[in-house]
Amino acid sequence: MEIDFLIIGQGLAGSLLAWELIQRQKNVIIVDNNQPNASLVAAGLINPVTGMRFVKSANADQLLPVAIDCYQKLADFFNQTFYIKKTMLRLLRNNKEATACSKRFKDRDYRPYLDKIIPSHPDINTTFGLLRQKQTGYLLTIPLLTALKDYFISLGAYINAEINYDEIKLTPTLRWNSIQPKQIIFCEGHHAATANPWFSALPFQPVKGEIITATATAKVQQNILNYGHWFIPLNNSQFRTGASFDRDSLNTAITSEARDILLNSLKQIYPALTVEKINKQQAGIRPTTLDKMPFVGRHPKYSNFIIFNGFGAKGSLQIPWHSQNLANHLLNKKPLAQASSILRYYHLF
Ligand SMILES: Cc1cc2nc3c(=O)[nH]c(=O)nc-3n(C[C@H](O)[C@H](O)[C@H](O)COP(=O)(O)OP(=O)(O)OC[C@H]3O[C@@H](n4cnc5c(N)ncnc54)[C@H](O)[C@@H]3O)c2cc1C
Repeated sequence: MEIDFLIIGQGLAGSLLAWELIQRQKNVIIVDNNQPNASLVAAGLINPVTGMRFVKSANADQLLPVAIDCYQKLADFFNQTFYIKKTMLRLLRNNKEATACSKRFKDRDYRPYLDKIIPSHPDINTTFGLLRQKQTGYLLTIPLLTALKDYFISLGAYINAEINYDEIKLTPTLRWNSIQPKQIIFCEGHHAATANPWFSALPFQPVKGEIITATATAKVQQNILNYGHWFIPLNNSQFRTGASFDRDSLNTAITSEARDILLNSLKQIYPALTVEKINKQQAGIRPTTLDKMPFVGRHPKYSNFIIFNGFGAKGSLQIPWHSQNLANHLLNKKPLAQASSILRYYHLF
């Protein structure tokens, strides 16, 4: 069977890219091994201003409207809500952070994202106050990826299989089993760092993270909280909290250490909250990169091999815009965004 694109991996990257290419009438097949992945564990938070110095994510002004529009279009198509807009309260943890934050209010580029500083909150322990942020929220990745998977299946565009890289034949024409794609797009998340024979030279820096989903004994406050870790209210009593950060143990085992760290850190800032039950603890591996920018582009030698990966801890914000940028590149020869193009690492191949 001849097709335009074979996409490997049905995480958020492969799924949104496949959706984009299918919208543009391309013939796509997406293959996934159905293993637990980062996208299904992720909190899906979108937070354009982060870090101790309150820095706007690279190209946030460009990325955010495209992400919101993409999730709204998907919501309209599937008649389901995928993106929940929610105000975020960011704890100012010391004088330095309070000063850095105040400075940002003087910068007009930050005005769309910063609301005001709140000196105190009835539920939250704070000495230096809280920053109320705008344009924040979270993506419901499980319903979104499930809806997209069902859609791909309905089109005959989904195959549940583990791609063994040896099975990809380059000559006489590009082929995987009976499928002859014009191009293959690799979206395997952190697995690419260790397993992909063509792209593992790229400087991935995967990071494990754990997340807890729990029920509280009483109604929880309804803002997203950000205090080094984060708290997301899912409804009146259920919430998620995360995520731990571990560069050393790159596995998906859950640990009591991460659970204690997350629950203790939440207790410190939100002492009134009492956990009735831990419903779930999950672990995943973020496909993070050395320079914190995605890996997008063609292999320098095998030009019909393309990578779409490295979205780190910000997949929900970044992937919709980069899907459009890559589709424009593949279909209309538009240039890729320089900062994420793997041209910057061609010397490593
Ligand atoms: C704990 C945690 C918290 C996070 N929180 C957030 C957050 O709040 N906000 C945010 O934006 N991002 C967050 N992220 C990051 C987010 O998950 C990623 O940016 C994004 O989901 C990466 O998507 P992906 O498609 O590249 O990778 P993945 O979701 O890992 O998908 C890759 C897919 O490829 C499949 N695959 C791999 N190899 C093969 C093969 N050989 N054959 C077939 N299939 C294969 C895998 O099984 C998987 O399904 C978090 C991640 C973690 C782990």
